[in-house]
Amino acid sequence: MINHYTTSVFRYCPNCGLQNGRAETEKLFTCPDCDFRFYANPASAVGGILRNSAGEILLVRRVKDPAKGKLNTPGGFVDPYESAEEGLVREIWEEVAMKVTGLTFLASFPNIYTYRSVTYHTTDMFFFCDIAEAPEFVPNEEVAEILFVPPTAIDFDELAFESTKQAFREYLRMLG
Ligand SMILES: [Zn+2]
Repeated sequence: MINHYTTSVFRYCPNCGLQNGRAETEKLFTCPDCDFRFYANPASAVGGILRNSAGEILLVRRVKDPAKGKLNTPGGFVDPYESAEEGLVREIWEEVAMKVTGLTFLASFPNIYTYRSVTYHTTDMFFFCDIAEAPEFVPNEEVAEILFVPPTAIDFDELAFESTKQAFREYLRMLG
């Protein structure tokens, strides 16, 4: 069963251990016994539209759920104390071992990301950039393969998330 609200997966109050807490809203868990409050605010996430010298876009095929086997931009969750740009550069390095230049903000979109039956709300921030250095790709625990696709040939049905589709629509609009 999928829990649609992050806070509804809490069975016990993490502060007093009693069982009377409840998901007040989809982002707020409250406990009437000890007045504990937990806010599950949307997590910061980043995605990179990486372009090679021919203007083709890099897509990665996901190894894991959610959206296992689907295509996505490289990216992921921003870590504590990281900027969005730093998080994206780190994720790009971890997933495809590429270095990029000219990181430019495109747009952000809300997304819903369910992992191991917990549903997280995210704010997905998309940037576009150019690939500076790209050693040969080695499949890893996050990415099965990479593809280079002309922007107008992207198959939207194969994209992993609604936010990624929105980002590419925005990117195509920008290209004109
Ligand atoms: Zn409590």
